[in-house]
Amino acid sequence: MQNPFENAMTQLDKALKIKNFDEGFTARLRVPNRDIRISIPVKMDDGSPKIFEGYRVQYNNALGPYKGGIRFHPQTEINEVKALAFWMTLKCAVVDIPMGGGKGGITVDSKTLSKSELERLSRGWVRALHDVLGSYKDVPAPDINTTPEIMDWMSDEYSKIAGDKSGTSFTGKPVDKGGSEGREMATGLGGFYVFDALRAEVGLPQKCSVVIQGFGNVGSHAARTFSEHGHKIIAVSDSRGAIWNKNGLDLEKLETHKKKTGGLKDFYKIDPQTRNITNEELLSLSCDLLIPAAFENVITEINAEKINAKAILELANGPITPEADKILSQKGIPVVPDILANSGGVTVSYFEWEQNLKHEHWSKKEVFEKLKSRMEDASKKTLEKARESKTTLRMGAFILALERIQEKMH
Ligand code: GLU
Repeated sequence: MQNPFENAMTQLDKALKIKNFDEGFTARLRVPNRDIRISIPVKMDDGSPKIFEGYRVQYNNALGPYKGGIRFHPQTEINEVKALAFWMTLKCAVVDIPMGGGKGGITVDSKTLSKSELERLSRGWVRALHDVLGSYKDVPAPDINTTPEIMDWMSDEYSKIAGDKSGTSFTGKPVDKGGSEGREMATGLGGFYVFDALRAEVGLPQKCSVVIQGFGNVGSHAARTFSEHGHKIIAVSDSRGAIWNKNGLDLEKLETHKKKTGGLKDFYKIDPQTRNITNEELLSLSCDLLIPAAFENVITEINAEKINAKAILELANGPITPEADKILSQKGIPVVPDILANSGGVTVSYFEWEQNLKHEHWSKKEVFEKLKSRMEDASKKTLEKARESKTTLRMGAFILALERIQEKMH
């Protein structure tokens, strides 16, 4: 896999060619403040010991405490976590929340662990890192394969060790354990608000045909939100395969099928108009909007030429490589960048942190209204920056973020 951190730095280089920033400032943005690797010993259910490798990268805290999720994945490694932590730094700035950027992870295929092994591993991550965490230091959250339940274990472990029962050191907790209403669907919903704010700008019709790559927390909530607003979801995929129905997928039936079988495959047996296709076929389907909502590096110089969407909304972090970005721009396909499009998740995490600190509990309606206004504002400012420098939305978002961070950096 292409090194995601190198990709992130290539994006930064490009932004610095468009707009001048202080050299001292940009030098500091090329390296994280801290990158920490840990060994997590876990006693497996059969009594055997196993050591897992974990990470926390604290990239930059000019705007506030480090903030960002923890990813559990077999391919997770330090360069990925560094890239994700860099993007978190910019993301918080784009959406104008007083948080810095961090990210964590563990190299693990969590599906192979029992629930109690997973709990011991999650608590082990906190035991190894508790010194550098805390509500005003570093506030982790969920990411790929980490759930509200895992956040609850971690928050509980932290409170035991640090004697802090406020619950303000982790976000994405279950709602009955201090989590915010609406956090689980926040990334998908926030992405929809951004799409709605920029739809006309990127030349899309009022009702779009939508293809979604990835059907985890982000992709499935995006599918539901877009469909509730009258858009047609024609194809979705997960790690095991993709399905396509040019007349639009029945999402309710699909969710039920997924719950029953654990995947999307064989949905054609329930809905004969649906066909199984490959992930590559999915990416090249003709549609109005393509939403990558899984991993980085899925659209590369190898497949970018085949993209047949009118626009792309990046709900995953880093799904398009810099080489692919260039090809898409030559093809005239606008890209709404990750650091804007998927910032709804961290925005509601910030709301959760704020509610916990103030001992408040906001209604879903209140959370969504606040989210909408932040996403619309960030979209508008990104567009202004892109227009001002006659550049892409990605570079507009980079410039907006860099200006905001530079102003606060000492
Ligand atoms: N993991 C999410 C992201 O990539 C959310 C981070 C958070 O809520 O702090 O933006």
